[in-house]
Amino acid sequence: MSKERLYIFDTTLRDGEQTQGVDFSIDDKEKIALALDNLGVDYIEGGWPGANPTDTEFFQKKIKFKNSKLTAFGMTKRTGRSANNDPVISALIDSNAPSICLVGKSWDFHVDVALGISNEENLENISESAKHFIKEKKEFMFDAEHFFDGYKNNPKYALSCLKAAYTQGARWIVLCDTNGGTLPQEVSKIVSEVSKQIPGKNLGIHAHNDTGNAVANTLAAVLAGVRQVQGTINGLGERCGNANLMSLIPTFFFKRRFF
Ligand SMILES: [Zn+2]
Repeated sequence: MSKERLYIFDTTLRDGEQTQGVDFSIDDKEKIALALDNLGVDYIEGGWPGANPTDTEFFQKKIKFKNSKLTAFGMTKRTGRSANNDPVISALIDSNAPSICLVGKSWDFHVDVALGISNEENLENISESAKHFIKEKKEFMFDAEHFFDGYKNNPKYALSCLKAAYTQGARWIVLCDTNGGTLPQEVSKIVSEVSKQIPGKNLGIHAHNDTGNAVANTLAAVLAGVRQVQGTINGLGERCGNANLMSLIPTFFFKRRFF
């Protein structure tokens, strides 16, 4: 395993906020963000500007960070609109965040059933969104939603979704186990295959904890070459939560295999 630097991406303020009973005020968000900055995480995903007034206002506060890059979350552009004319995309540009993480589909079943568009239209939405933010000089990341399930169903199409963002110049391609049902040996195998096409230094992992494997899956992905690790403080997150950075960071620090 190569020992290139690992990048920590905290999504407590976005994915963590989807935990039942969690509702951060702007003040809470600022305090947590400053604590994360002190901890030294590389990226703080602050929320989805434009999706609700708290997140929009939080990004307008223009908090100065010493270590971390504030990242705005959003969704790839809609079919039938240019990236320039998509209000979701415009709100992200207006947030002034230096880095942008857009979620998009990579499972052909969801492209058909959830979006009701063609596979080609989905690829165009990904590549046009990536192109738009890169032209605006943003650090761009693509969160490939349900990637592992998509890969199991149609590896060629799932990979083409990743490449649609990567070939435009995306800094990170994040492989998401959105429903948390993938097991560590599957993560190892699939990440090894993906990294033949996209280098590990450009790959991230976002693992949910529905089978209790989010930390194990994240470690498996890192051992297979991934270099960005997404997670939350104490594993907060939708349903059963996310990979717990409070387990992962000390593991990376103390276990020699990882550094
Ligand atoms: Zn998630």
